[in-house]
Amino acid sequence: MLQPDVIPTTEPGLRVGIILPEDEEESITIDIPQEPQYYMVSKADNKFDLVSNDRIEFHLSESVISVFINTKAVGESNSWSIKPINVEYRIGNKAGIKVKNVISGRDFHWKKFLDVYLLGCIEIKCVGKSLILINELPIEQYLMCVATSEMGAACPEALIESQTIVARSWMLANVEMKHRALGMDVCNDDCCQRYQGTTHLTEQSIKGALNTSGKVLMYGDNICDARYSKSCGGVMETFENVWEGEPLPYLQAIPDAPDGFIYNALPLNSEESVRKWIENSPKTFCSPAFVYEKDLKNYLGNVDEEGEYFRWNFRYTQKEITALLNLKLDIDAAAILAIRPVKRGYSGRLIKVQVDYRHIDGQQESVIMEDQYVIRQTFHELFLYSSAFVIDIEKGIEDIPEAFILKGAGWGHGVGYCQIGALGMSLKGFIAEDIVYHYYPGSTLKKIY
Ligand SMILES: [Zn+2]
Ligand SMILES: [Zn+2]
Repeated sequence: MLQPDVIPTTEPGLRVGIILPEDEEESITIDIPQEPQYYMVSKADNKFDLVSNDRIEFHLSESVISVFINTKAVGESNSWSIKPINVEYRIGNKAGIKVKNVISGRDFHWKKFLDVYLLGCIEIKCVGKSLILINELPIEQYLMCVATSEMGAACPEALIESQTIVARSWMLANVEMKHRALGMDVCNDDCCQRYQGTTHLTEQSIKGALNTSGKVLMYGDNICDARYSKSCGGVMETFENVWEGEPLPYLQAIPDAPDGFIYNALPLNSEESVRKWIENSPKTFCSPAFVYEKDLKNYLGNVDEEGEYFRWNFRYTQKEITALLNLKLDIDAAAILAIRPVKRGYSGRLIKVQVDYRHIDGQQESVIMEDQYVIRQTFHELFLYSSAFVIDIEKGIEDIPEAFILKGAGWGHGVGYCQIGALGMSLKGFIAEDIVYHYYPGSTLKKIY
């Protein structure tokens, strides 16, 4: 595992959570590949040699994991590991152990179940009434896989290289440590970084990791906490508008656009300027002026099949929005009267919103939400692309609107590296170094191992 506040001088190993307690899995099925050779070992050190095409099933019952190899019961333990006999194994597309039905997009609108292929070792344990699965492997192998899980394999080299540098920096800055208590450095999903093993690995992403091996972004003596998201919407958001903590000097509110970019709505410091910004399509790197939205599918990771993130609309009828907000905010509204922006970040993202509603008992009441994440969770059945939106209403009877239309920009928190913007830059011929310095101004690249 990574050590807090330590900058490694040799390539570290990483422990990635693939199946988490909240997935509530009671059984896991894996397939052993043609090569390399693996063995399985229980907590009590019972060893089993495995051969190619073995199917192994793990079933949890009363805190004991029973294991079956090709349907034959072989033992019980509360912890199992599967390891390659030789650590010099082949790295390529779909290399490694196949784990069936792994969740991607936990709690998001793009949630899916996928089979994933994992290099290195796996460990299966129980936590409460669920199984967990941890994948342990060298960080550079992890990063090869992250670059193509986060973006599609058709991406230009500069994009893959810049994404790899950003993912490595974020990982080694190791600030969040959300899953440390479970013995994991990160999880496999958007909560940390999207990782689907070698499922979509390409020669190009292997090259991207090798070309940038050990290179991280530094600011002073520290590795940059290199946050990133899918699309900033045209202006990058600052750290402190999204997370608790002090501003970080390399995460600034700047247009995601070529030098000299001028737009009369900037800065986005009034409702009027935000509306103008969102209702138009300024020519930023993440806009259709640099990345045609119809081509986006070829470049984005395989789990994202929609196509319009730079500017988008959601229309809710009065009945729909009332049902949604009653559920999400745990209120008893008979009707929603208004959705009022109270405070926005520099990218137009709402960080404070007030909802006025008529209570079922007749009186008017209000509720306030803070935090872009909470706002995104509230205004969509699953999760809204971003909190950078303005609200239009369709007039109804008296003071009760007929419908609300959310007109929005971008996807994700918008801080730091903008993946679609970086794609736009790489398609224009910018190299990886230009791209990372654009998104993290004042930082420097350094090879630490
Ligand atoms: Zn996570
Ligand atoms: Zn952007």
